[in-house]
Amino acid sequence: MKNTVTCPKCGSRKIILIEGSTAVNNRFFPLSFSTYVPLDRYICSECGYTEEWIPARDLPEVRYFAKQHDKFITGGDN
Ligand SMILES: [Zn+2]
Repeated sequence: MKNTVTCPKCGSRKIILIEGSTAVNNRFFPLSFSTYVPLDRYICSECGYTEEWIPARDLPEVRYFAKQHDKFITGGDN
């Protein structure tokens, strides 16, 4: 939904974006006990299907964490 602005379940194009950094009921992805990155939520306003995405600006920190903790399941050097 993030890239297509179309719900993959029902085909609706009425998508709601709740940005992780601004949401009241925020969702975070834990990297460690003290480090979290926000999750942007894309919600279909017709059927309720929801996707969660880590914002691109936070991906370097996620990649660093994954490399430090051997979390890549394919191509860790990519
Ligand atoms: Zn939908």
